[in-house]
Amino acid sequence: MSDWSIEEAERVYGVSQWGGGYFKVGENGNVHITPVPEDPSIQIDFNSVIDDIKKEGVQFPVVVRFHDILRSQVAGLNKAFRTSIEEADYKGQYQGVYPVKVNQMREVVEEIVDAGKPFNYGLEAGSKAELLTVLAMNTNEESLTILNGYKDDEVMRLALLGRKLGRRVVVVVEKFTELLLLVKISKELDIEPIIGVRSKMTVKGRGKWESSGGERAKFGLTITEIINAARYLEEQGMAHCLKLLHFHIGSQLTDIRAVKEAVTEGARIYADLHKMGFELDYVDVGGGLGIDYDGSNSTNESSRNYSMQEYVADVVYGMKEMCDLEGVPHPNLVSESGRAITAHHSCVITEIVGEIKSNASQMDTSAKEGEHIFLRNMRELADTFGEQTNMHEIYNDASQYKEQALDAFKLRVLSLEELGKIETLYWQIMARLQKWYRNEEYVPEELQELDYSLSSQYLCNFSIFQSAADTWAIDQLLPVVPLTRMNEEPTVNCSLVDITCDSDGKIDQFTIGREITDIIPMHPLKKDQPYYVGLFLTGAYQDVMGDMHNLFGRLNEVHIYSYDDDPEDFYIEEVVKGSSVEDVLNIMQYNPRAMASDVKRLIDKQVWDGKLNPREGVRWTDFYENCLSGYTYLKQS
Ligand SMILES: *Cc1c(COP(=O)(O)O)cnc(C)c1O
Repeated sequence: MSDWSIEEAERVYGVSQWGGGYFKVGENGNVHITPVPEDPSIQIDFNSVIDDIKKEGVQFPVVVRFHDILRSQVAGLNKAFRTSIEEADYKGQYQGVYPVKVNQMREVVEEIVDAGKPFNYGLEAGSKAELLTVLAMNTNEESLTILNGYKDDEVMRLALLGRKLGRRVVVVVEKFTELLLLVKISKELDIEPIIGVRSKMTVKGRGKWESSGGERAKFGLTITEIINAARYLEEQGMAHCLKLLHFHIGSQLTDIRAVKEAVTEGARIYADLHKMGFELDYVDVGGGLGIDYDGSNSTNESSRNYSMQEYVADVVYGMKEMCDLEGVPHPNLVSESGRAITAHHSCVITEIVGEIKSNASQMDTSAKEGEHIFLRNMRELADTFGEQTNMHEIYNDASQYKEQALDAFKLRVLSLEELGKIETLYWQIMARLQKWYRNEEYVPEELQELDYSLSSQYLCNFSIFQSAADTWAIDQLLPVVPLTRMNEEPTVNCSLVDITCDSDGKIDQFTIGREITDIIPMHPLKKDQPYYVGLFLTGAYQDVMGDMHNLFGRLNEVHIYSYDDDPEDFYIEEVVKGSSVEDVLNIMQYNPRAMASDVKRLIDKQVWDGKLNPREGVRWTDFYENCLSGYTYLKQS
């Protein structure tokens, strides 16, 4: 009997570590969701979600959105600020905004706006298309609409249209010439703008996005430019329009010290501007609130060494301390946390559609008259395995024989069959070495890779490029776990590969038992029993950044709402169909209808020529058309 347990599953997969209070391994070995941490009576079993998805006839892979998690995160951030503001006796208020670039899906933005209503939580846009969206979505006149990013004449006019509509649109100036443009257009239209300036900070965030800060940052004004901007506005009689100081030193700040330093620097700039007579109402600390993707609660690139409440406290107390020292009023606080709001609420569910076993194929290797000496050597090595004690030497010999054999094959001295036998024997030896070394304390470096080279690859029905772009682009670690069977010991070590024709389409970075590894233990696949794995924390950036590599399109989506009166505590509120093949072809400038009629014509010709009977011809025509209107992923029969 193994001593596998639910506690062990938690230790291996770290679900509660990265789960943010929303996910854990349930007693029955399935992932359980607590979408509203304040109400732990609502418990959703992921297996019931899968059952419902199947009942709805939705094909996998599927994006599952838990709208309650989104709402919980919005409330959590706002309450964290309220708590710290009260504790610190801070005189300003918190007026956060959600940066839509992190996930622009309409349903996501709508839910955030709705959940944020009691807190006057606003929206942030970074481009023209986002501004058009935000102007229509953010109808709360008390909340802020913040406009970052580079702007042209049209963007400025749209922002001023927002002012006409009674919205608090803040135009954050990213470079000096934008200010000239904004002043000119607002005078021309006679609409008073609300102006912010983004400061280039000397402090850099740490982690993958550290180049968002520092003097070579792409955005923001230098100290000199900020002073010149303020003076220019004064000359234009518009000093009172300058209301906000903004900075953003990078996303996924791993170290809380960077947050503290940035707040101190920002507070100093705010305070001195105030003393120069520019009385700003808001300080906007940007994004950067990190997510603990690997569950280590550390300064690892995929983690952060602080909690949401600690982050908030450092912003509030840091600002208060500096303002009190400088004798200036506490400004209202704005933050633009996107990742922290959305990461937890969605995940990608895919089924494993196959196992690529590594070197599991065997052939008969018994001795034959006249066989090559290299083959005999390798067999002898395999036969005497138990007798020798120097395992490292066995490894070296086996590797050398294999290399020699390959050369000999190319020189036409060794036959294809002999080479095959040598390969079989070599991998038999490696498997035994791996077993032997499993209990050893010291494993030589070359041999450490045996676990990886002997591991299986589980084939996942999805595309990394569509569903987890950052794991490919910037080695972002995202937690992966089986959704069921975690009460059984997972005995297959494997990495995960997707169905694109690209060798980069794989996941080989996991945190297992708090260590970063290249293989993950999974359960053996069973015939006739689908095996589902979840890729978690995909709600920030991943959901919307995917591309159509190999023409794999957007995923089907199900939107889950919790509902305490339901026996399963939830219901599927909506199914959003993913891209069909037609959809992706249209984007690539094809005309699927014309393609269908071309293929039909070819089929008709075969019928005409008597090579296909008419009924068969019709069937093939229908089949082609059905595939065109179907899903881009593999269909499980
Ligand atoms: C991307 C971005 C954000 C969001 O950052 P997160 O780390 O996701 O919270 C906020 N503000 C600006 C200016 C950004 O560019």
